Amino acid sequence: MFVVMTVGASEAEVLGVKSHILGEGMTPFEHVGPEHTVIAVVGEMGSRKAELATRLATLPGVSQVKPISRPFKLTSREFHPEDTVIKVLDAVIGDGSLTMMAGPCSVESREQLFETADAVKAAGATILRGGAFKPRTSPYAFQGLGVEALRYLAEARERTGLPVITEVMEPSQVDIVAEYADILQIGTRNMQNYSLLRDVGRVARPVMLKRGYGATVEEWLMAAEYIVSSGNPNVILCERGIRTFETYTRNTMDLAAVPLAHQLTHLPVVVDPSHATGKRWLVKPLAVGGVAVGADGVMVEVHPNPDKALSDAEQQLDLDQFRDLMATLIPIHELARGMRAPAMSDAALGIGGSGGLAKH
Ligand code: PEP
Ligand code: MN
Repeated sequence: MFVVMTVGASEAEVLGVKSHILGEGMTPFEHVGPEHTVIAVVGEMGSRKAELATRLATLPGVSQVKPISRPFKLTSREFHPEDTVIKVLDAVIGDGSLTMMAGPCSVESREQLFETADAVKAAGATILRGGAFKPRTSPYAFQGLGVEALRYLAEARERTGLPVITEVMEPSQVDIVAEYADILQIGTRNMQNYSLLRDVGRVARPVMLKRGYGATVEEWLMAAEYIVSSGNPNVILCERGIRTFETYTRNTMDLAAVPLAHQLTHLPVVVDPSHATGKRWLVKPLAVGGVAVGADGVMVEVHPNPDKALSDAEQQLDLDQFRDLMATLIPIHELARGMRAPAMSDAALGIGGSGGLAKH
């Protein structure tokens, strides 16, 4: 549930509500909205809920107490109706602009990274990606250059001005990755690694949370809730394909998840057609699809010589293909930005009261 303060409630009244919540063993999360301040009450409240709501409603400065019907609370639109906008260096994510994250699957050398960084920047990318610690299905495959790659990424940021995003695979890497990178990526395999989610929730860097390849949208948003409830409100969601019975593509890109997530949550949503399809020729049409359904951005893998790449050779675009992709996406984005659906009721969304969609 959350407490809606009256318009113009004083700081002391807000503090009073927060300390009451703390006194009940719950955690208050304050959000200053355009009209009034709201305070979410988060924690295990069991049977005390109704009684606590009645008590909070009587405190000075409180206008009303409302339930949050979703299992994810701080990430829900009910609690936070306005879109979350994330600023990192000169990049802005979730403000209606098109965020383009591009770069190699793995950082392989300084030269390879710099050549890619210069080209994607010139073509209009807003964020540079590059894997330093690589989660590989085979323990015998290239595992990434680790800290050496982090240093090259930081140099590439100096060179281009682009913020850099890279994956953090385990709690012990969080501090070092946060030292070098501007955005931390949680990969699909780690979406439900709760200790890692909590740890990235404690750093002052935005986090991009990829959807687990076997996760429902609700599980994905619950994973985001771990990060936000640990203290980090700057989470970007990334749809990167889920595993289905299809074998011609690496994964199946769930395009419906984009407008759905926009209804359910205020967090920005980007798509990754590289990992979703695993095939170079499918990256452009699926990137177009993602932007057309309202994604706030696209992450794509780009390599100066994809056939020689040490990881994901089949899906990386070359530099010309990236330039072509950018030219294609800009007008599609212009068209799509006016098409975003307004917030809808659960009945209109076809969502049952307990959350989750009706199946057939
Ligand atoms: C990646 O972006 O480098 C990556 C490994 O992606 P995913 O976690 O989606 O497989
Ligand atoms: Mn990859």
